[in-house]
Amino acid sequence: MASRESFEVALYAIGGTLKAVNLIMEKKFRNAFALVRPPGHHAGKYRACGFCIFNNIAIAAQYLLKKFKLKRVLILDIDAHHGNGTQETFYETSKVLYISLHQDPRGFPGVGFIDEIGEDEGLGYNVNIPLPFRTDDHIYLKAVNEVVKPIICQYKPQFILVSAGLDGHYTDPVASLSLSALCYQKVYETIVNLASEICEGRLVSVLEGGYSLNFVGKIVTAAIAEMSGTFYSIDDKVPVAKERIRKQGEKVIREVRKVQKAFWDV
Ligand SMILES: [Zn+2]
Repeated sequence: MASRESFEVALYAIGGTLKAVNLIMEKKFRNAFALVRPPGHHAGKYRACGFCIFNNIAIAAQYLLKKFKLKRVLILDIDAHHGNGTQETFYETSKVLYISLHQDPRGFPGVGFIDEIGEDEGLGYNVNIPLPFRTDDHIYLKAVNEVVKPIICQYKPQFILVSAGLDGHYTDPVASLSLSALCYQKVYETIVNLASEICEGRLVSVLEGGYSLNFVGKIVTAAIAEMSGTFYSIDDKVPVAKERIRKQGEKVIREVRKVQKAFWDV
């Protein structure tokens, strides 16, 4: 996967992400989408992993804590895979709340389970929602509304970062969720509303995975349209999961709520 140019390209990905953060903090823009590659959320402090060389979003969060002295930064990870590198980086701090919705992580990356809830000062600041393969919009949005949204409202982040993995789309050749483009549009509508209610709209979305050439561009456009308050009509079919998958998904949501109840009103 890596080539002679990878190092330089990876530095540009970090630079582009930090540029987006700076533009928001300087109040030049309300929000921004960093269209960068390689992605970052699997990369740990000392190693590359899963197409990721440096963890762009983790560096951006660290930058917000150090340079701007923020005390509460949210990373919402909507990539179909769990962001093991990001979780690992902030597992012991309350200054970064990591929330991830992802497909069953048993095959890859091997972490991202419900009972990984943070440690020491970070206890209660790590939320994993591992959904079954072929999860559809209905279950995904239920998890967003019943778990993600209330926790964000209670944490009151000063800045929202989104790990914008778009590989949960049903046409994606790499991941195994069954989301439609409309689901992403609704997720962005929710995030944009939360950002404007909680942190003066401060939001940076950073591209992660997404390998469906027919849909990545459309979903990014839909996300940017939501972020800029522009109307964009997206045409896509909405897959409906089998009853068995829906039941498994509902069970996951119940279990996440049970575990996170110790820290949040969910
Ligand atoms: Zn992914």
